[in-house]
Amino acid sequence: MTHDYDLFVIGGGSGGVRAARIAAGHGARVALAEEFRVGGTCVIRGCVPKKLMVYASQFSEAFEDAAGYGWTVPPASFDWATLIAHKDREIDRLNAIYISNLTAAGAALFQSRAVIEDPHTVRILAEDRTVTARVILVATGGTPWLDLSLPGIEHVITSNEVFYLEEMPRRVVIAGGGYIAVEFAGIFNGLGAETTLVYRGGEILRGFDDELRAAVRGEMEKRGVAFRFNVIFTSIERQADGLLATLSDGTTLAGDEVLFATGRRPSTEGIGLEAAGVALTARGAVKVDHEGRSSVPSIYAVGDVTDRVNLTPVAIREGHAFADAVFGGHPASVDHTHVPTAVFSHPELGTVGLTEGDAAQAFADVDVYKASFRPMLATLSGRDERMLMKILVDARSDRVLGVHIMGHGAAELAQVLGIAVRMGATKADFDATMAVHPTAAEELVTMRTPVARLRREAA
Ligand code: FAD
Repeated sequence: MTHDYDLFVIGGGSGGVRAARIAAGHGARVALAEEFRVGGTCVIRGCVPKKLMVYASQFSEAFEDAAGYGWTVPPASFDWATLIAHKDREIDRLNAIYISNLTAAGAALFQSRAVIEDPHTVRILAEDRTVTARVILVATGGTPWLDLSLPGIEHVITSNEVFYLEEMPRRVVIAGGGYIAVEFAGIFNGLGAETTLVYRGGEILRGFDDELRAAVRGEMEKRGVAFRFNVIFTSIERQADGLLATLSDGTTLAGDEVLFATGRRPSTEGIGLEAAGVALTARGAVKVDHEGRSSVPSIYAVGDVTDRVNLTPVAIREGHAFADAVFGGHPASVDHTHVPTAVFSHPELGTVGLTEGDAAQAFADVDVYKASFRPMLATLSGRDERMLMKILVDARSDRVLGVHIMGHGAAELAQVLGIAVRMGATKADFDATMAVHPTAAEELVTMRTPVARLRREAA
């Protein structure tokens, strides 16, 4: 049977666009549908605009620090409208590049929502017609999750809206303890808003190394972010001068905006997956094997919709591997271990490998190396600031299991450390590497003595 296309991709984000381009390069006839804007979450309303706003928010600190270095900085003022306009211009530019890369590769683009009708048929809603494909790739990503039973939930914004606010909020209340909540707390605080982060747990950034989590929170507190832990929201009301959030301990918080960053869910609703017989996980993600194939042989999925490691580079790698395997004849699976990652908080956190807790669970003998110091920049600026670095080593093999950094440049360092850790570098390799002086990173190759030796008793 002949189909209209060899591959139909639903979703023009990080994973879908890469898969479409690579498959087309292998000679496949490809089409892609995107219901919002090509580029997806990362480019349009995720990583990229977020990082631009992080940069914007760091200037307040740079102006303050400049004084210690002899600069007289006139009172600085910030204009939200300028930032948003410039950010939008950059996102438009990237959106256009994504579209032209896709079409230059030979893929057909449908600016429409697409819904699966059966294992080889997709309905293009904007054109009210169906097309067929030998293979369908679901790359629909994820979407912010909200507790719709919360009274007043209609007043909150999510990360989808925060990039388009017409005015900068002077008081911001943020719900959530994950990286998106923490990053926006840093952004708004840096831009001068009164910022409070409310989280139902006892500490931010669950899943990261416990010591680093506490350290980042401590540094954020020093910069003026207020934290409210172990409470949830019971209602949000609109009042004459903004929003009033009531918390489970009976206290209230006033804000011009309440930003909910309480998690994301895979976008699998209403796209015909159940009708086609595609099995989902308990969290509603598409269940896939190591090659990205779902329970229906002609339907594959990559990226956040599979809810594995929800990061852009992972979605891109999965999309690429899928296209190589299915259309290029090079079976490849993606290694989801040793994924370096960063939190663009103030200060940044960069990490690769196991946390101390995970290392102690998985290995009998773990040595912990640590450096906590005042970064050189802070000496003349006078800023009360610490940088923290931690290396976890399997004492039996000397292999480095994890490296965790808080401070300037931590994200950039995590990328490079990711290579070493993935290659299986030992602590002796770190020690044998010459330092770059004067840098903060030289601490990574000069930590001589463990601060703790974690030993599990033989059973
Ligand atoms: P997406 O990029 O979400 O793309 C899915 C696309 O499918 C969307 O464009 C959507 O409109 C479209 N779509 C959905 N349903 C349909 C349909 N039925 N028909 C047609 N189109 C449809 N990751 C990082 O690595 N680093 C970061 O710093 C980072 N920061 C982030 C900050 C924020 C605020 C957010 C929300 C996410 C961030 N992420 C970051 C995560 C990253 O954005 C995602 O992991 C990545 O975008 C996943 O790519 P994807 O292709 O799976 O899905």
